[in-house]
Amino acid sequence: MSIGQAIDGRPMAKGLLEQLRRDIEELSSAGRHPGLAVLLVGDDYAARAYERRLRSIAEELGCHYVHERLDGTAAEADALAAVGKLNADPRISGVLVLRPLPDHISEEALYRILDPRKDIESVHPLNAGLLALGEPRFIPSTPAAAFHMLDQYLVSVGRDPVEFYDGATIVLVGRSNNVGKPGVWLGLERNATVISCNHHTYDAGKLRDFTHQADVLIVAAGVPGLITSADVKPGVIVIDIGINPVKDETSGKTRLVGDVDYPSVIEVAAAVSPVPGGVGPITDVWLLRNTVLAAEQ
Ligand code: NAD
Repeated sequence: MSIGQAIDGRPMAKGLLEQLRRDIEELSSAGRHPGLAVLLVGDDYAARAYERRLRSIAEELGCHYVHERLDGTAAEADALAAVGKLNADPRISGVLVLRPLPDHISEEALYRILDPRKDIESVHPLNAGLLALGEPRFIPSTPAAAFHMLDQYLVSVGRDPVEFYDGATIVLVGRSNNVGKPGVWLGLERNATVISCNHHTYDAGKLRDFTHQADVLIVAAGVPGLITSADVKPGVIVIDIGINPVKDETSGKTRLVGDVDYPSVIEVAAAVSPVPGGVGPITDVWLLRNTVLAAEQ
């Protein structure tokens, strides 16, 4: 039995980072400087870890960085005011509102007042609409990272991505506004046949019917080990976006796992991205890439 290839996202992230460094130098010599602001309301563990990673990349790139942090009990008006302040700050080119927000604060309300020119995750309705029309101002970092990884993998095995996607079946598991839905638009732009599944597909007992059709399977459900070898056809390319903290029963330590049962799926698939070390590192750099793009624009 042939074993599939692990798609390592770390060298791809490094390549993007090096390019970004050159872009920033060029931008600086033209007198423009990118600045990233990350707003965190509350104390979510994963959001705090993400904020630290972004800060570290911004610092490594010499990029202006602001971390705006509000207590989890802050009123919605305070969060709106924080976004307003960042909108008005000329040193900030990109603003990221971290999820999850406390229940009493409306995600939509914050997204709607975000300056679309600084909306690097395309969560403002204008940018989400442009993305759906195939005219994106910013491609959201996670689905962008998934397709960047796919492109790089295809080239590495001698396939032309444009030819490969044309008529290929891409199945996305998960339809969130920030990952699954934009992933659908990116697949359609590449002339693929795109199938979108969600937890209702699963509850209806139909998920496997669709995942079996996939030439490319992109999974972003937040369910550890959701996809096993029984869910995929031989030769599929699997991109695992899930990041799930699970407690190791023997060591008691928390570790991160994906939505894909990697050991079984790699036995059947052509290639699988692991967690950690897969899409995540590319996503982090892509967010800075969008910040630089915002400064350029
Ligand atoms: P979300 O909770 O907003 O959406 C989850 C989606 O998965 C929903 O559409 C839901 O219907 C679907 N789903 C849930 N259970 C399912 C099942 N059993 N079968 C089929 N569909 C199911 O989550 P999200 O923000 O899209 O994130 C999804 C996962 O991706 C999480 O694990 C998150 O941590 C991870 N994530 C990773 C990155 C990265 O850079 N790698 C970035 C963002 C999110």
